[in-house]
Amino acid sequence: CGIVGAVSTRDIVPILVQGLQRLEYRGYDSCGVAVYADGLRRARSTSRVAELLEQVRGEHIAGSTGIAHTRWATHGAPAVHNAHPHFSHGPGENAAHGPGRVALVHNGIIENHDELRAALKAKGYRFTSQTDTEVISHLIDSLYDGDIFEAVKSAVGQLHGAYAIAVFCKDEPNRVIGARYGSPLVLGVGKDENFLASDAMALAGVTDQIVYLEEGDVVDLQLGRTWIVDRAHKAVTRPVKTVHAHS
Ligand code: GLU
Repeated sequence: CGIVGAVSTRDIVPILVQGLQRLEYRGYDSCGVAVYADGLRRARSTSRVAELLEQVRGEHIAGSTGIAHTRWATHGAPAVHNAHPHFSHGPGENAAHGPGRVALVHNGIIENHDELRAALKAKGYRFTSQTDTEVISHLIDSLYDGDIFEAVKSAVGQLHGAYAIAVFCKDEPNRVIGARYGSPLVLGVGKDENFLASDAMALAGVTDQIVYLEEGDVVDLQLGRTWIVDRAHKAVTRPVKTVHAHS
């Protein structure tokens, strides 16, 4: 339902949670946030975003790279284990990747999730949710070879359906990747920090420099640098608009 993502040098958890609060009016059944902090960390809740904030404070979850989500369940009941962000731990029993390597949030519906899940299970991936979304996190992990942007570009080519996603990998902590097809996603350009959101309004007060991503775009967010490719994987420049979002 709602997505916020950020790559910065300051703690971005307050920005992520406030972004979710700005999207709350759209409705949701659960919410969650994940950050990089010497590995992947997350908090998820089937309660309000305010409760998620308490959890984040109580567990001292902080980091300068992260993603957050409000979920409106389409596949899998509203439950904490189905709430996003989803992690991929790599194939096999607990894998060599420790507590998780790839973190992902998703808005939309993946139509071919059954086929993808079967293929990923055959490769040794273990599923911990009933969502269509979890296939995307494992698919990206299965294609990861040191460059998360390349892995996301390959993965989205195998997805049928609608998606806006935000992804990061613990091996490249100053990088967040976004991609969209059929669901909205914008890039928010800051000073030495960059943001993603399903709606520019989520970034009100953070940045008013907004790039509306187009169908099939994949975007690479780093500190002070962004890079967009279109659905043919050709590098493109999209206009930056000044958007005065009202809360
Ligand atoms: N289909 C996904 C799920 O059920 C994403 C739903 C959403 O857009 O919030 O988890």
